[in-house]
Amino acid sequence: MAKQTILVPDIGDYSDVPVIEVLVKVGDVIEKEQPLLVLESDKATMEVPADAAGTITSIAVKLGDKVGKGSVIAEIEASGAAPAAKPAAAPVAPAPAAPTMTAAPAPVAGQYSGKVDHECEVLVLGAGPGGYSAAFRSADLGMNTVLVERYPTLGGVCLNVGCIPSKALLHTTSVMDEVKTMAKHGITFGAPKIEIDQLRGYKESVIAKLTGGLAGMAKARKVKVVRGLGKFLDANHVEVELTDGTGQDLTGKKEVVRFQKAIIAAGSQPVKLPFLPEDPRIVDSTGALLLKSIPKRMLVIGGGIIGLEMATVYSTLGSRIDIAEMMDGLMAGADRDLEKVWEKFNAGRFEKIMLKTRAAKAEVKPDGIQVSFEGENAPAEPQTYDLVLVAVGRTPNGKKIDAGKAGVQVDERGFIPVDKQMRTNVPNIFAIGDLVGQPMLAHKAVHEGHVAAEAAAGEKSYFDAKQIPSVAYTDPEVAWAGLTEEQCKAQGIAYEKGLFPWAASGRAIANGRDEGFTKLIFDATTHRIIGGGIVGTHAGDLIGEVCLAIEMGADAVDIGKTIHPHPTLGESVGLAAEAAHGHCTDLPPVKKK
Ligand code: FAD
Repeated sequence: MAKQTILVPDIGDYSDVPVIEVLVKVGDVIEKEQPLLVLESDKATMEVPADAAGTITSIAVKLGDKVGKGSVIAEIEASGAAPAAKPAAAPVAPAPAAPTMTAAPAPVAGQYSGKVDHECEVLVLGAGPGGYSAAFRSADLGMNTVLVERYPTLGGVCLNVGCIPSKALLHTTSVMDEVKTMAKHGITFGAPKIEIDQLRGYKESVIAKLTGGLAGMAKARKVKVVRGLGKFLDANHVEVELTDGTGQDLTGKKEVVRFQKAIIAAGSQPVKLPFLPEDPRIVDSTGALLLKSIPKRMLVIGGGIIGLEMATVYSTLGSRIDIAEMMDGLMAGADRDLEKVWEKFNAGRFEKIMLKTRAAKAEVKPDGIQVSFEGENAPAEPQTYDLVLVAVGRTPNGKKIDAGKAGVQVDERGFIPVDKQMRTNVPNIFAIGDLVGQPMLAHKAVHEGHVAAEAAAGEKSYFDAKQIPSVAYTDPEVAWAGLTEEQCKAQGIAYEKGLFPWAASGRAIANGRDEGFTKLIFDATTHRIIGGGIVGTHAGDLIGEVCLAIEMGADAVDIGKTIHPHPTLGESVGLAAEAAHGHCTDLPPVKKK
């Protein structure tokens, strides 16, 4: 047997890609093409396969290392023939590009021949933002529509345990934070008194108002809601195990819906970390939003948007918080200059932000959850927390609905590949929302839902958005749309930039919050806007104008010559465009070249 070095093969335009999983260990006997590593760039997750078979004698990479073409992965004692040409790394979860469709299994139409309880033109499975929007659009287009949902309320993750409850709490805590700053203005208030039951009640009233509104709108449109857990029987039938109570308790009864077209909108659920024990003090975002108590010491595992939003809420309520993030930065996907402003502003908010560090082990102790860490910034000793929030991502529900019985292809991670009309490989079945790919965001799901319903009605609708905005509703907020500077650099796109610092914005200064900035990114050849980012208070509301400008193909002159109201934060978008063509009279003069 000969020694052989296994290298990272050609992985396209990627370099310095972080390793998020090492799938093998020394001593393992590996097959040729067996996945060895999982890499995750800001655009794709990819598995790196072995280009030879043998026994691993040493491994040269560890979690969090950055690799590119030619990096050494491992040494093996090779068995068998000399290696063939190196296989390319296989993308497993393109983000934001959709999962790829491969050869379709034969659709299984009309196999079911038992009793049918409901007949419809369109069945929508799942009533999250994608599902209810698809169902309502289908009904508005005149199609008889059934909406299947396992929970008692409509609205899915977003309304019940996601976007809306998190924003209700973030609103409360942002007012608490703002009140504290009033001392500088000569206005002082006493220390806040937190009635946690009342705060929880406020959050629940917000959810109830919205979900109740959806139930009314479903009724007004004559969308029939069937409450239960739906699974495919074939390409024209779904069986629903009826549910009851406040969760998804099964009643034992089943109903069958026959449909002509179906739209799958079954969403996603939080990723679990297998090494964490079962304990009520270890929660996901749903558990954290229950707001059962305010922990003294809390660990947030994962420095993405959801983790940081919940960390913001709990820190203002009084928890001392540590954040552990495996990668070398927080808020993945945002340009670093935006994130840096957030980081500087929040320097005193959290106890420790541990980058390049992962929670490796957790033990249940009487006084809390004892967590051990590994990585560059890992504390030497295990730390004990009253609450651990796991916010390391979400996984699609594609594998839980017996999609295969309808012939619908689901990839190995549970995503359902679709075309631009949101159509799966089975012509009468569409899929939308979190389970068709990244970014997992409500506004993407809603637009996809509309496209699917229109395509189901025979319209020539396509999902061809030029941009899907992202917002971290932290303090300050961070928002971006279209291409980031980092993406432009990685893709070799020549760009120009206009940046307006809020330190020059009358409104931001009057608000006492001038730490942010607005930047616009233009294609250097066409001069049309291709992206933008904003960090500062209300950035999430302000980014909408940048989204519209990108979709309309506006250039810096269009945006700069649009009269914005003064004094507003929104003005900063026009001023950033003026800065891009060197005409901003609210900034120091640009030196002539
Ligand atoms: P979901 O909302 O997941 O809905 C799927 C529905 O299908 C659920 O109601 C589920 O019960 C139902 N279902 C699943 N399987 C079955 C079955 N077999 N039978 C019957 N019913 C079934 N996005 C934003 O854009 N902005 C934000 O600010 C934001 N904040 C978030 C905060 C948190 C804490 C979380 C967790 C998420 C947040 N998101 C946010 C993401 C957003 O909630 C999701 O992207 C969005 O809800 C996805 O919509 P969807 O329709 O694809 O699926």
